Amino acid sequence: MRIVRSRSALSEQLNAIKSDGESVGFVPTMGALHSGHLALVKHAALENNHVVISIFVNPTQFNNPEDLKKYPRDVDADIKKLEELQDVILFLPAVSDLYPKEVRSKLIDLNGLDKVMEGEFRPGHFDGVATVVSKFFEIVQPTRAYFGEKDFQQLQIIRLISKNQFPGIQIIGHPVERNRDGLALSSRNQLLSQEDQKKALLIFQNLNWAKLQVPKLSPDTISHSIIQNFEGSALEIEYVQIVNEDTLQKIDSWEDVKSARIFIAAHISGVRLIDNVSLF
Ligand code: AMP
Repeated sequence: MRIVRSRSALSEQLNAIKSDGESVGFVPTMGALHSGHLALVKHAALENNHVVISIFVNPTQFNNPEDLKKYPRDVDADIKKLEELQDVILFLPAVSDLYPKEVRSKLIDLNGLDKVMEGEFRPGHFDGVATVVSKFFEIVQPTRAYFGEKDFQQLQIIRLISKNQFPGIQIIGHPVERNRDGLALSSRNQLLSQEDQKKALLIFQNLNWAKLQVPKLSPDTISHSIIQNFEGSALEIEYVQIVNEDTLQKIDSWEDVKSARIFIAAHISGVRLIDNVSLF
């Protein structure tokens, strides 16, 4: 693994790779790396000659300054996790590399994909994501870019951006990586005690329960039952949404829907967790 800390140093490395006609897989992250991130890197390594993984806690995608402050950061531990990997470039840009003028999002029309779920509860979040991913795509110009289904709404938004602005970059989705018990891996899990991580399994249990109720129960009945299941638990539910996978719009019935997915966001001990599963 090689480390580059500036845009110009990365370009130097990439120019050599690209002049040899070799492919580049790109995995953007915010660090505090876990096995979910490493699975994306391995996926990218299988399909490309080289992998660029970036670690950058993007200030413009945090609507809540407290959340940005508390976001886990441990670059030294991250470097250790990547050290042994071959043909991997770790890109650690400074804020001024990505935002040379002002630390601000560009407004991009995201076809309403950014108005629901995470977009509704984290205003401006996807403007920040779209801004930083566009900047990274311009800098890295990868052959393929890898994103986790853990952030499924983000994945769909990036597919749209790529289709409109970066048609040459193939976007690859990677399934949600979970711990042995089923908790979706997340950098935020390390802010939780073992006990809270066990309690947080309620999210995955309810997502699985929902899958078993299709098509017997309506989407609304499922969502309401889940809200009831969380009552009196350690988790405070922010939203449960059953949506059409392509449009991310809420659905009222299963008819005429090609693929549906259920999403939950919930808070436990001041930590916000999200998860989702495909229903069909
Ligand atoms: P983050 O560092 O949280 O911004 O995540 C960087 C990338 O890793 C995003 O594409 C995430 O969707 C993906 N990712 C994070 N956690 C998981 C997980 N448990 N399973 C699959 N992908 C994940």
